[in-house]
Amino acid sequence: MANFRTHLVVAAAGGAAIAHGGWQGGLWEVREALPVLALVTLGGILPDIDADRSKAIRLIFNLLAVPAVVAGALLLQGRLDTGGLLLACGAIYLGVRYLGARLFSRFTVHRGLWHSLLAAGLCGLVTAALSHRLFAQPDTLAWAHGVAVTLGFVIHLALDELYSVDLIDARIKRSFGTALKPFDWRSPGNSLVMLLAAVNLLPWLPAWSPLWSLLAQGAALWR
Ligand SMILES: [Zn+2]
Repeated sequence: MANFRTHLVVAAAGGAAIAHGGWQGGLWEVREALPVLALVTLGGILPDIDADRSKAIRLIFNLLAVPAVVAGALLLQGRLDTGGLLLACGAIYLGVRYLGARLFSRFTVHRGLWHSLLAAGLCGLVTAALSHRLFAQPDTLAWAHGVAVTLGFVIHLALDELYSVDLIDARIKRSFGTALKPFDWRSPGNSLVMLLAAVNLLPWLPAWSPLWSLLAQGAALWR
């Protein structure tokens, strides 16, 4: 298994290449390239959210707490005075950071459901929906953000698989095949829940056609 630093460095390098390529290809402006880079990097550490007490889980929940606080502040701003709002935002931050992380590690297995293409897709959809609805990004850019997270996620899964092959004596470790999989066949129930979560996101997503043209343009740049 690749360690946290390897994941971070490889995903950031991949993110830089994608952000730069997309800017050169006219997919986004230079100021829009930075969030793409950041989201590929985030996607690259996100799968290890299921590793208990990992650096990844602490960092991820710190990062997730930020949009949660922004969402909370937007929702509550009409209902509370400044003091109440600050208190509520503090509570949301602590709740996501500590309670969320605790619950998450209680209910997940490392390299289970979160190390799958299904999870990669779901995280991309959540990102696109958040970017579009919460941060009011236009369709194409919101999709670019979602695709960035999914790409980072896939980089992580591929790296985990790469590390499970012992290159020196070409031995395949037992962990081979546990990272880059379509879904977690050992827990079909949880995989189904994840699929249903994705379906429930449908009304919140940006229009689909900008995604297809983004992917077509991206594929053309690749060639
Ligand atoms: Zn991993």
